[in-house]
Amino acid sequence: MQFYSLHKTAPAVSFRTAAISGQAPDKGLYFPEYIPRLDQGLIDNIETLANEEIAFRVIHPYVGNDIDEASLYRIVSETIQFPFPLVPVTEKISSLELFHGPTLAFKDVGARFMSRCLSYFIQKDPGAFSKKVTVLVATSGDTGGAVANGFDNVPGIEVVILYPSKRVSEVQEKQLTANGANIHALEVNGSFDDCQRMVKQAFVNERLNQHLYLTSANSINVARWLPQQFYYFFAYKQWGNKNNPPVISVPSGNFGNICAGLLAKASGLPVEHFIAACNANDVIPGFMQTGEYHPQPAHATLSNAMDVGDPSNFVRVMELFDQQLNLVKENVTAYSIDDATTVQTLTDVYNATGYLLEPHGAVGYTALEKYLENHPGKKGIVLETAHPVKFPAVINEVLPGALQVPASVAALMKKTSRQTVIQPDFSQLEDFLLSI
Ligand SMILES: *Cc1c(COP(=O)(O)O)cnc(C)c1O
Repeated sequence: MQFYSLHKTAPAVSFRTAAISGQAPDKGLYFPEYIPRLDQGLIDNIETLANEEIAFRVIHPYVGNDIDEASLYRIVSETIQFPFPLVPVTEKISSLELFHGPTLAFKDVGARFMSRCLSYFIQKDPGAFSKKVTVLVATSGDTGGAVANGFDNVPGIEVVILYPSKRVSEVQEKQLTANGANIHALEVNGSFDDCQRMVKQAFVNERLNQHLYLTSANSINVARWLPQQFYYFFAYKQWGNKNNPPVISVPSGNFGNICAGLLAKASGLPVEHFIAACNANDVIPGFMQTGEYHPQPAHATLSNAMDVGDPSNFVRVMELFDQQLNLVKENVTAYSIDDATTVQTLTDVYNATGYLLEPHGAVGYTALEKYLENHPGKKGIVLETAHPVKFPAVINEVLPGALQVPASVAALMKKTSRQTVIQPDFSQLEDFLLSI
């Protein structure tokens, strides 16, 4: 399998190169040259297969010979070492809980898979990396924690994470700062945009690139994007009525997760329809309605991991459907849900069923309800992308007493933090990177 650049000027590369470099040299996103067709046995017998087996069979065609089969099996097994339960909420709606990983958000799977692939490539051919491999990432919350945890104590890789001071939650900050010696948290006295600007500057800085092999761990990397397909197979495995496939609602920001679901469907997974559930950042719902794409600066909402004004993976959705908007619409309906409605849903669902959503899942739930109202006879799944404990402020305000802190979080909060405070000044980042 080769991956081509969506800007079409850089050469096609194998999985290894795409995973190591992140983006193509022409700045395009990498896309698989064909969509593998799954063996029908995988679908027909899915209930009898272990998650590891399913994940291996889904990812193998994309990785090809770049990782030997035994190692790939080990990597996927380690990646998905936690449950992905499908929990019924009402007669029509179930929640696929993607928050049982170490940092309590769905990004764990992509980060764990990517870190293990990079580590494999470095160990197999250390000579190819004459400089120290350093993963550099800016985070507004969940990404940094998943990346830190995924690379924690992975040999041969240093990780530097920039986060805006006082703008991440307490749990998120602990996840960034209480890790092994190879994970370096930089608390920047500035905004997320400052962090992102400094990271971008580092990638093009000659002096740094002479000393270090800098790589990014953001969601456009194929090694983070492709394993997200697993969720949709695990959902289908647990879906009772195979004759009436599920409508799946995906809380969406950068559109990486939903695009992985669409890829899974294109390779043969039965899915009735997809819902792209957005918050007030409604660039894609607007585009689906008017055919005009107007990127915007991100607005802050309660579902902050989806505060994206120019979703980077949407170009992959368009490519999957040959750039034809009408084909996208046949497969995906997009909704924009505001904060007031999100909180209302969170409260109503808890009061009616006892099931506690968090803001991202509540956006997905609301959108799914709207779709099902117009499609009687259909049933659906909402992807619950984070654990409610990551959003205590809003939940404690509207549903006091509902939130229970899991033991793993209580233990995390007792760990010692280690971070370095820097100013939003590139030279301070440069000095730090040259010092590790
Ligand atoms: C990242 C994230 C999303 C959005 O996923 P995309 O792949 O960017 O669309 C949704 N919910 C949570 C909790 C997230 O961390």
